[in-house]
Amino acid sequence: MRYPPEFIDRVQEANNLSDIISQYTQMKQSGNGHMGRCPFPDHAEKTPSFSVSETKQVYHCFGCKKSGNIFSFLRDYNGMSFPEAVEYLAERAGVPLPEIQNEHQTEKHIEQNEHYKKQQDAKKLMLKVNKMAAIFFAETLKQASNDHPIKTYIQKRNLKLETIEEFQIGYAPIEWEGLANHLHKQNISMALAEEAKLIRARKEGHGHFDLFRDRLMFPILSPMQEVLAFGGRIHDQGEPKYLNSPETLVFNKGRVLYGLAHTAKYIRSDDVVIIVEGYMDLVSLFQAGLRNVAATMGTALTAEHAKLIKRLTTNVIVLFDSDEAGQRAAERSLPLLLAAGLYPKGLILKEAKDPDEYVTKFGLPSLSEKIKNSPELFNMVLQMWMTDYKGEASQKVKLIDLVRPIFDAISDTRLKSLYTQELSHRMNVGLGWIHSALAGASPAKDYSHTKLALSDENAQIITAPMSLKPLFLLSGAPQAEVMLMQLSLKSRANFELYMSQQILSQISHIGMKNLFEKAEQVYRQDASKFDRLTSLLIDYVDHPELLFSNSAIGSMGATGSDTEKENKMIADCCKRIQQTFLKGQAKKMALGISKNDTEKLKEIEDLQRNRISLSKKNGGI
Ligand SMILES: [Zn+2]
Repeated sequence: MRYPPEFIDRVQEANNLSDIISQYTQMKQSGNGHMGRCPFPDHAEKTPSFSVSETKQVYHCFGCKKSGNIFSFLRDYNGMSFPEAVEYLAERAGVPLPEIQNEHQTEKHIEQNEHYKKQQDAKKLMLKVNKMAAIFFAETLKQASNDHPIKTYIQKRNLKLETIEEFQIGYAPIEWEGLANHLHKQNISMALAEEAKLIRARKEGHGHFDLFRDRLMFPILSPMQEVLAFGGRIHDQGEPKYLNSPETLVFNKGRVLYGLAHTAKYIRSDDVVIIVEGYMDLVSLFQAGLRNVAATMGTALTAEHAKLIKRLTTNVIVLFDSDEAGQRAAERSLPLLLAAGLYPKGLILKEAKDPDEYVTKFGLPSLSEKIKNSPELFNMVLQMWMTDYKGEASQKVKLIDLVRPIFDAISDTRLKSLYTQELSHRMNVGLGWIHSALAGASPAKDYSHTKLALSDENAQIITAPMSLKPLFLLSGAPQAEVMLMQLSLKSRANFELYMSQQILSQISHIGMKNLFEKAEQVYRQDASKFDRLTSLLIDYVDHPELLFSNSAIGSMGATGSDTEKENKMIADCCKRIQQTFLKGQAKKMALGISKNDTEKLKEIEDLQRNRISLSKKNGGI
């Protein structure tokens, strides 16, 4: 669902950033906003340096320099996508979701709208039933006697009570109709519970039976803590070891990573995610203290998973089983993760059957060390493929056919070049041969579907910039341009002063220039929305902290005494920008000059005179 900008505006206005942040850290009134201790886990601070501006609805941490708006906070802290954040905030403030937008309301569109509304209602009902089931499973576990086999299992796996509560883990009883009867008593329609894939109708006779029986139950939560589905793990011998809810209106396992509702903030803070296979792996690693983890729930990684990861970090370490299935999973994941623009590493734990067992046997520090030293997934897969490699011609050709789809998936040319060198080195053939062999025609595997699945992301660029790669890259921007932006965003008067300088065409850094242009464009459209400007620009840049001045005083809104100082600083920045621009122009001209080009010479002289007079005025920068 794509939401119209006016609706997004309305949702944003109906919510208050400091209310949201107050759920995670205590905020105190301070000047024009609130201050509190930074809620992000990598910045464990004792004195508050995390500030929220009430008027601008943005946050900035003076300690760790994290900055953002309400949408980026929900992404970085809870792992929500842009549409999820919009829906969450709309629900929270009681703003009804908009109708599907169409210029001409034909009968078909009205029908579409009705269908959409019905579906939204059905989703809500299903989430409610799932929640009831989760509470039922949790209660059943709590009430089980201490000598119950499930309690013995929990003890054996060393699951602590606080972990069970945090992840809302429960137990599906052994009876055939435990949940069915419970829901029936609560007046839940059996058809709805059936649609939620919690129960099934008996083929013969009347009644329904439970889908999950005698299993440890892991609710699969959305970033908004809604119960989307369940994973059930067997606690005794038997098959299947893991059982997931089948696909429903609210659940598609290829699109959900287990644990993100709890771990997104750690992944974002550590800037790396560790991918494991099962719920139990994730929960036990989390309990042991490794928290930047997400689990695929026993399935192979998908392009949708890669998208979820990309929202939080580009660094991925995938833990694979040491068996053949693990090897196949590694092969499959590699092109997929690369196509998403991620930097994948891989790790096989040979000494244990899963990460949980590894930690029990060797301790967390040993696992952390292994994770730290894990190889590039490309190298790992290459090594698998080259186990019997003796450099025979037929082996070389086969290997090239295997790696071609991987190279096709890489969009980063620098990475491609490094991998080519690695391949040339390992195969013991020249770079030239690799290049021509990779370019040559052959029956390459078709990975276009992964690219296709990722490219629909681009279509959302207009409505959801925050879910994408930033549009304006600010690295390497000159100090004067960064400072001018910070000063201009401080107050409306400052912004007016910046506009009056008409300096845009002389901004040298391309990302910075685009950013100033965007700011001007938005401001011209509606100057009364100046307070919203910073929050809006945050979605467009790769380094939002550059929009904030790092002196705590007045950085979230100028006070009267600062005005004069700031006016002078703005003028200084503009002068420096102008000087750099003129210097560049002079250089360009000098390069393109010919002997008799007196006219150009004269232009350069003029330019230089201009520069001298500027630096005099400026006190000689
Ligand atoms: Zn911080």
